[in-house]
Amino acid sequence: MRAFVCFGVLLSITARASADQEMAIEVPAAPHYALSGKKLVIEDAAGVETSHASVTLALCGDRLCPPYDGLLLPLKIRATGPIRINDRRLLGALWAIVQDDALVVINRLPLEDYLAATVGSEMPRSFPPEALKAQAVAARTYALSRKITREGAVAHLRSSTLDQVYGGLVNSTEETRAAVQATAGEVLVYERTPIEAFFFSSCSGTTRDPGLVFGGAYPYIKSVECACGADKPLAWSARLSFTELERKLGGKVSGVALEGEASDGRPRAIVFSPRDKRFSPEELRKKLGYTVIKSADLHVACDEKGCTFSGAGYGHGVGMCQHGARAMATAGKNYKEILEHYYPGAQLKKL
Ligand SMILES: [Zn+2]
Repeated sequence: MRAFVCFGVLLSITARASADQEMAIEVPAAPHYALSGKKLVIEDAAGVETSHASVTLALCGDRLCPPYDGLLLPLKIRATGPIRINDRRLLGALWAIVQDDALVVINRLPLEDYLAATVGSEMPRSFPPEALKAQAVAARTYALSRKITREGAVAHLRSSTLDQVYGGLVNSTEETRAAVQATAGEVLVYERTPIEAFFFSSCSGTTRDPGLVFGGAYPYIKSVECACGADKPLAWSARLSFTELERKLGGKVSGVALEGEASDGRPRAIVFSPRDKRFSPEELRKKLGYTVIKSADLHVACDEKGCTFSGAGYGHGVGMCQHGARAMATAGKNYKEILEHYYPGAQLKKL
């Protein structure tokens, strides 16, 4: 294995990526936002401050609905301690803005508080501490990478699997806070820039080449053997009738075949007859649903009514396999060894 641990102050990472970052996270869209918190204060765009025990905000035309239609958007909302918004409790402050004729709420909070909740949202808190630490570094790196690429946008990250799952304080536990604290400020870099630290739930013994999945070059990630093969990778199957396939894919479907084999053993294309419509595994996952076709490691068998897709693993397969990280941690590897395994071309640096 290559010498990997290379700590030190990394002055050359852009000044935007410092350890005391504030992150802006988009709260999931909702028709209205019910807010409460201790000493909840709303400051409107005119600088007028009002105190509330709780409020429900929604948009009526281009203003807030009554009785808050006197408040001028955007709003800054703060409280002493966490703010409850709909089904989640969040640290930091909230901003309510209008974007594309919709009311959008942004949560601004320190990076490390965000990470403590994200690690617990993305990985079971029961996983070994070294796996949680590896997840903390990957999540910090991903967050900073997005913050840099989305500079100027109202939010750096969404709260879902489109970026990283962020469920708020319910997922911030003693275990996740310890993992974040033990790796404080540590990020994976390539050529002095935070990498795109992709991760996913499980594979079936080999991770995927990022070029095969996303296209483009990611020189710090390559397909590697993964210990999760011994950790009972998730087996999945999905039955879809020809009618469902035709509805989701468009056009007549009477049969399905796999075509070619990529360097990591997954099919290169899934071909639907009679029109020879071709999809890459990731295109098919997007079309039929990421929770339906759970991985690219798939097989298919059809009868006269439809097709059964089956496979192993869950997720796009690029970067760190979370179940593999658990298997490595259980076998005594530390988080640096786990990160080196899944991101072999990156360096671990402390901001
Ligand atoms: Zn794996």
